[in-house]
Amino acid sequence: DIPRTRYKRVLLKISGEALMGDQGYGLHPPTVQRIAREVQSVHEMGVEICMVIGGGNIFRGLQGSAQGMERTTADYMGMLATVMNALAMQSALEGLGVFTRVISAIRMDEVCEPYIRRRAVRHLEKKRVVIFAAGTGNPYFTTDTAATLRASEMACEAIFKGTKVDGVYDKDPAKHADATRYDRVSFDEALAKRLGVMDASAIALARDNNLPIIVFSLDEPGGFRGILAGEGTYTTVSG
Ligand code: UDP
Repeated sequence: DIPRTRYKRVLLKISGEALMGDQGYGLHPPTVQRIAREVQSVHEMGVEICMVIGGGNIFRGLQGSAQGMERTTADYMGMLATVMNALAMQSALEGLGVFTRVISAIRMDEVCEPYIRRRAVRHLEKKRVVIFAAGTGNPYFTTDTAATLRASEMACEAIFKGTKVDGVYDKDPAKHADATRYDRVSFDEALAKRLGVMDASAIALARDNNLPIIVFSLDEPGGFRGILAGEGTYTTVSG
């Protein structure tokens, strides 16, 4: 039985670290496959899905520049890392029989498609899972901002941010037993209290485009499908 959902088109944002499993670094294919199954189960509901995956499991520009690398070069390396993650997710999804396209903000024609908005929309209409790689294509941005940008361009109804915890808390629940979860929080409050939903530029862009961000746990099996069906616990960040 496939549950019903009110969503027609969504963007799933995950960090690169979500793909590394228990390792401290890189890609853990069984973990990638597990997340791919979560995506597949939402795809089965008839929802059009696009994805943005971070690159922090492989390289972060800020870390590189803190160690003396030129910042923009380090950021390009971070963007390239997201392409590797996108290809890993593509492989896992196609292994499950879900058709996909990887679309990169930095041209890499032998590897994946370039970003052409209308073409990406068409893929979604054809029920292909579209994985946006290379962030925004610009240094000094993050994949959270890329997620907000692409979700706006694709006219997604919401961004689903899959994390290790089931929403946004007033303090880090891993460190504080008395941390409490918000059911709903406004963009302005998330910004003012620095709640760690996403970075500030991403939250501001979501606010200006009226794009809700739903923060949920990707560690719960079936969690993504449940959230789309309106079950489970999560935090809605909205206007
Ligand atoms: N990055 C960038 N521009 C973008 C997106 C990403 O320069 O539009 C670089 C940046 O160096 C960042 C790295 O790519 O540190 C990996 O992305 P991010 O840190 O967002 O990954 P996540 O934390 O989600 O795994």
